[in-house]
Amino acid sequence: MATQRMIDFLADRRPEGPCLVVDLEVIRDNYLRFARAMPATRIFYAVKANPAPEVLSLLANLGSCFDTASVPEIEMALTAGATPDRISFGNTIKKERDVARAHQLGVSLYAVDSIEEVEKVARAAPGSRVFCRILTDGAGADWPLSRKFGCSPAMALDVLTLAHKLGLRAYGVSFHVGSQQTKTDGWDSALAQSADIFRTLSDRGITLSMVNLGGGFPTRYLKEVPGVPAYAQGIEQALAKHFGNAIPETIIEPGRGMVGNAGVIKAEVVLVSKKHVEDKARWVYLDIGKFGGLAETMEEAIRYPILSARDDDQVGPCIIAGPTCDSADVLYEKTPYELPLSLTVGDEVLIDNTGAYTTTYSAIAFNGFPPLATYII
Ligand SMILES: *Cc1c(COP(=O)(O)O)cnc(C)c1O
Repeated sequence: MATQRMIDFLADRRPEGPCLVVDLEVIRDNYLRFARAMPATRIFYAVKANPAPEVLSLLANLGSCFDTASVPEIEMALTAGATPDRISFGNTIKKERDVARAHQLGVSLYAVDSIEEVEKVARAAPGSRVFCRILTDGAGADWPLSRKFGCSPAMALDVLTLAHKLGLRAYGVSFHVGSQQTKTDGWDSALAQSADIFRTLSDRGITLSMVNLGGGFPTRYLKEVPGVPAYAQGIEQALAKHFGNAIPETIIEPGRGMVGNAGVIKAEVVLVSKKHVEDKARWVYLDIGKFGGLAETMEEAIRYPILSARDDDQVGPCIIAGPTCDSADVLYEKTPYELPLSLTVGDEVLIDNTGAYTTTYSAIAFNGFPPLATYII
């Protein structure tokens, strides 16, 4: 939610062009909310959601660990003050030389989801801990992260057994229930599968320690979402159901849920027009679009709240598009967006809850538009 500090900042500074304002106080609140609701769980912030140095330093100071996907992200977490024991290399698709570099930097926790990746880690980061990612169906999530990552639970058994044989520490299981997961019981079936893997491997003499519950914690966009305590409860119940009194060590990797509601984008209406006089829906072109940071509007998956000073006026359906010369640069069309009919060229709009997955998705100079400016307050 746009905070008073964000609104005041924009009113005082009047930055030219579209920009994101991030309020660190909101991120601090979010971190503390996770820490309080899940006191036994370690928090690995998913760096990709918003890697601004100020965000990483704040979280490092609060005691957060970091889920990283590349050597530069590892270096950013280290620069922010995290020690290597607080960093996981959570990408299941890594070059062997990047694993070697991470190992050199002291990172000792790696994600894998295949035999081939275990072999890389065994060669390049001997003795490390590895966790195996399993597939999930992403049900209940607005931005599924299935298919590309993870393997079947049966294959996870082979992957972790090989890790053990190759002298790695078969440390645990991970999954991601899909980003913007709207169901608080969305972790249940993956935890059932995780518990099965723990039991089967235990029978083979391999003791796993950890379940990485991934991210998925939502941000409120247009629809209300449950709070962190409701997710904590859903997860706790599923853990008790499937692991009984042998609850493993757990970690979470919130990205969106940590920073999404900490940012607001200020943008401007460039043009309001129709294609035919009789059209019902108007086209509203903003000075930001898919290539300016709003990539998550892909397939209209994430629908951001769009606010303006005219919000008390009568609304009508709009097709919202960005300013670039690419016809893919349309934000909402299949489901038109209701905006005030009085909205006009030059009006400022606030695109709310845009703290996650925006700045780094912004192109560097497509059509000459600069990357999304960011102010951290
Ligand atoms: C992107 C990602 C996350 C963060 O997901 P959110 O839904 O934004 O919380 C967590 N873990 C991994 C492995 C990821 O790739």
